Amino acid sequence: MSNILTFIELTADGAPRSSAAALLQRASQLGTPVAVIAIGPAHRDAAVTALGALGVEQVAVLASESADGAVGSAQTDAVAAAVDAFSPTVVLLPHSAEGRDVAGRVAARLGAGIVVDAIDLRADGDSVHVTTSAFGGAFTVDSVVEGGLAVITMRQAAAGEAAAAVQATVTELGSQQSTPAAVVEARTGGAAASGRPDLRSASVVVSGGRGVGSKENFALVEQLADVLRGAVGASRVAVDSGYAAQALQVGQTGRTVSPDLYIALGISGAIQHRAGMQTAKTIVAINTDADAPIFDIADFGVVGDLFSVVPQLIPAIEARTR
Ligand SMILES: Cc1cc2nc3c(=O)[nH]c(=O)nc-3n(C[C@H](O)[C@H](O)[C@H](O)COP(=O)(O)OP(=O)(O)OC[C@H]3O[C@@H](n4cnc5c(N)ncnc54)[C@H](O)[C@@H]3O)c2cc1C
Repeated sequence: MSNILTFIELTADGAPRSSAAALLQRASQLGTPVAVIAIGPAHRDAAVTALGALGVEQVAVLASESADGAVGSAQTDAVAAAVDAFSPTVVLLPHSAEGRDVAGRVAARLGAGIVVDAIDLRADGDSVHVTTSAFGGAFTVDSVVEGGLAVITMRQAAAGEAAAAVQATVTELGSQQSTPAAVVEARTGGAAASGRPDLRSASVVVSGGRGVGSKENFALVEQLADVLRGAVGASRVAVDSGYAAQALQVGQTGRTVSPDLYIALGISGAIQHRAGMQTAKTIVAINTDADAPIFDIADFGVVGDLFSVVPQLIPAIEARTR
């Protein structure tokens, strides 16, 4: 099997970001995953151990004191050096801000083909077929990178069953070669921790829309998310009306999510909302309007008042999961 380089985004303290597990699982469906990281000495061993815990057997490490602060450059050097060392057919990266940045730099530097925001991948002989979603999900496109290395960013999705932990073998990639074009000197702010899973990679997302009616009522959306151990999302109207934080917006101008289960509460299903969630495996909609467009894409629908349905649903789920 060919090597599939998998770029791993790390937090400031060296932990693999939530995109890592699903990306590595994708890589293992195509070939042998090789995780690539750029990291300073302080967190190096912890990062390698964490990747072993995700079942990664090969980790390629570029040692760089400035990996966290130097925007993209150490990470691009790491991936380029790993391409030399492992001769992969595919480089996989998350479709995050950092993943997109590194993907563009790597493709330009190595003259590779690039496909962004893939929602599915399939090996066919020596080729990899990449599925992307276009025009707000109205079309799906099947692409093949011909004649050489393919650099692919994957839309973040929920990870499947965890692989067994292993002791990872480390390959050193040398040190950072390129001079950073920009350096982050300080980070401030950021969303307050909710204790819930990251919206982009959660396996369950419960979203509320205008039908929820108020910020206070949004607690019901959060309660349903919590009994399902899921993330909370919102429509743009819910965000604009102040019911939920902007970071929770799902859709064309918000987050794109691909969970196993998406529950839409009081959301009509406008095309701009659907663009961010219609690749979910199972969609459940609760809406008083039987003609709401969300029912066109829902696998299960309840025509009813969310304030009557959800308070019955929560204890029923609790009783089954206790
Ligand atoms: C350029 C552009 C970008 C956009 N980007 C986004 C985006 O990223 N994300 C996004 O979501 N939207 C986006 N929009 C807005 C989008 O067009 C819709 O306006 C929005 O998604 C509607 O939000 P909603 O479904 O919450 O509200 P509505 O469309 O008003 O729907 C509310 C629904 O709640 C139902 N309801 C009411 N009361 C109850 C109840 N008690 N129980 C159950 N159901 C009830 C109603 O029947 C209705 O179907 C964008 C629009 C534009 C023009």
